[in-house]
Amino acid sequence: MTDPDLLARLDTVRDRVAAAARSAGREPDAIDILLATKTQPVALIAGAVRAGFGLVGENRVQELVAKAADLDDALVGVPFERHFIGRLQSNKVRALVPLVKCVQSVHSSELVDRLAAVAAETGRVLGVFVQVNVSGEESKSGAAPGAAVSIAAAVVGRPSLRLRGLMTIGLNSPDRQAVADGYRLLRSLGADVCALPGTAAATELSMGMSGDLEIAIAEGATMVRVGSAADVRRTPPATG
Ligand SMILES: *Cc1c(COP(=O)(O)O)cnc(C)c1O
Repeated sequence: MTDPDLLARLDTVRDRVAAAARSAGREPDAIDILLATKTQPVALIAGAVRAGFGLVGENRVQELVAKAADLDDALVGVPFERHFIGRLQSNKVRALVPLVKCVQSVHSSELVDRLAAVAAETGRVLGVFVQVNVSGEESKSGAAPGAAVSIAAAVVGRPSLRLRGLMTIGLNSPDRQAVADGYRLLRSLGADVCALPGTAAATELSMGMSGDLEIAIAEGATMVRVGSAADVRRTPPATG
């Protein structure tokens, strides 16, 4: 049985997403909620998946690998999708690829090559998002905006990869307009990507987290990644 506190927290997240969608004139169903489950114990993650949150992501390979088998055991027969959303080094690709449906943090053509080769060896088609650093902050990973389209082009034509769209970690700032500008840039790059040959289906935009998902949804997010707002062990964050 899923913890009632967790269910209440998840309901709040779903309500926020739905309200943001409606005020942007969008269908709530048009926005997927990925639970960013870093530091969360497997039992809580399994409870969230059983409650209908079938999209989960980890941002460290070591933690993802450490939890994967137990989570799979806890969820036999329950469909869910595991994504990788963190900084990825080439030497971790081999451990990661067999465990995930999708890597959202593809920031270079070299990483595209490596992921394509390993996915091909394992006989899988791996979903990928190109991660873009829209804020230009040194601390943020992701490709420069000017490189996003060429990295996306490198994904196309790889039978072992499927380009799903673009991902970003937004500017961490109280300046809502500056945050929105970053998300608008990702959306515009997404349109450029979709204009390439063979990329018409790569329409997803993974952007927005607990603190700013309303802004991201107003700017066209198709997936938000929520961690702290869904974490029953924390006090709820201030919402905007
Ligand atoms: C942790 C994390 C999130 C979620 O952040 P919150 O602010 O806790 O909602 C989203 N994306 C990535 C890449 C993360 O590592």
